[in-house]
Amino acid sequence: MTVLWLVEQADGGGVADVSLRALTFARSLAGGAMPSAAPSASAASQIPASAPEPAEAASWMYQKRGYSPTNGTFIGDEKAGGGGAAASPVTDGAHGSGGAIAVVFGDAASAPVTELSSYGVADAYVADLPGLDGYAPQAWARALAGLAAELSATAVVAAGTDHGSEVMAHLGAITGLPMAANCVSAVRNAAGELELVRQRWAGSLLEDAVLDASPALLTVAADAVAAAPAGEPAATSVHVYQPGLEEADLLVSAAASAERSSGVSLATARVVVGGGRGVGGPEGFGVLEELASLLGGVVGVSRVVTSEGWRPHKQQVGQTGTRISPELYLACGISGAIQHMAGCLSSKHIVAINTDPDAPIISHADYAVIGDLNQVLPALIAAIKARGG
Ligand SMILES: Cc1cc2nc3c(=O)[nH]c(=O)nc-3n(C[C@H](O)[C@H](O)[C@H](O)COP(=O)(O)OP(=O)(O)OC[C@H]3O[C@@H](n4cnc5c(N)ncnc54)[C@H](O)[C@@H]3O)c2cc1C
Repeated sequence: MTVLWLVEQADGGGVADVSLRALTFARSLAGGAMPSAAPSASAASQIPASAPEPAEAASWMYQKRGYSPTNGTFIGDEKAGGGGAAASPVTDGAHGSGGAIAVVFGDAASAPVTELSSYGVADAYVADLPGLDGYAPQAWARALAGLAAELSATAVVAAGTDHGSEVMAHLGAITGLPMAANCVSAVRNAAGELELVRQRWAGSLLEDAVLDASPALLTVAADAVAAAPAGEPAATSVHVYQPGLEEADLLVSAAASAERSSGVSLATARVVVGGGRGVGGPEGFGVLEELASLLGGVVGVSRVVTSEGWRPHKQQVGQTGTRISPELYLACGISGAIQHMAGCLSSKHIVAINTDPDAPIISHADYAVIGDLNQVLPALIAAIKARGG
């Protein structure tokens, strides 16, 4: 089966971790080796596809289940109290065996070939969009639509990031096909339909769905699978693809973003230093900025902080902010409300610094420091500097 995978590059270069997770999902789907992460629904209701051809043949059925209002429900949860990366629905035998094809936007010279090779990608298409250097959602979607048709793709997969979701929504509009967001597993049944489990309500509810459409358009929840390199690296062939674009496809494009010019974006950062009400005010964030800079990361904040006007909304983590999946989330003076946790539970490691041992975030954290951040953070910075930065 041919599955196209939209590559999202990290700000510092290479493929973003969240995109590699989507690749691991795509590779398993292509290899047909992804087991169901949960029992399928016994009954389902159907939403008729309202889109024109070719979606007339597409159908979409779903049933909600597994709602947990306090912790959120995550399949294969490894952490006490909920959260964290789910157990991978990828079997060992599937690594490197799938036919996932990478679609990279940018120039061929900057394609992350070494990384693609180590993740078992044999073919990468570099979409050459004349006059466009940066992100252009509709143009990217047009290119994906063209490639999906040319390569007879059975699925197109992207990470459930802002960019991934936006491009896939455009792809759905262009092709008239339904798009399933935030999937955590996908299994093709005997009838050729895809049986999906996907996250709803910021991850606090899981939905069983059946998608009958080709290609299937899917985004992957950040914590659906861990990024898994292939057992055997592939010899990656790079092909240049020149899509036929329409004038309207070029209306929206971003050549650069503030996050990129300053180095790292919140959504793809490997380290996020989070600050909440406990930071005390806008002036308190200097120490968090310093620590984030020492760790090569960025500052993220709770909604209280943005509501108070201490920091801009683009730094907010959570249900109504950015969903993050860093290697390390250092949450300082943040209580861990469910709406905040919805945006950070797919962090690989959560370390909480809080004066209150009963703060909800403590039960989600891998490590907790019970103490005043005004003492803990300067001590941490001094220790990092003493070790040479
Ligand atoms: C529809 C909706 C959507 C929402 N979306 C979001 C969202 O996207 N993101 C989000 O974050 N919130 C969101 N919220 C708000 C959320 O419910 C919480 O109100 C918010 O997350 C709390 O922010 P906080 O943890 O910074 O503040 P608080 O809950 O007030 O917690 C402050 C913490 O700091 C600790 N503390 C205080 N002083 C110190 C110190 N000196 N050192 C160490 N620790 C200290 C305290 O013990 C406490 O645990 C949403 C709410 C609603 C209703």
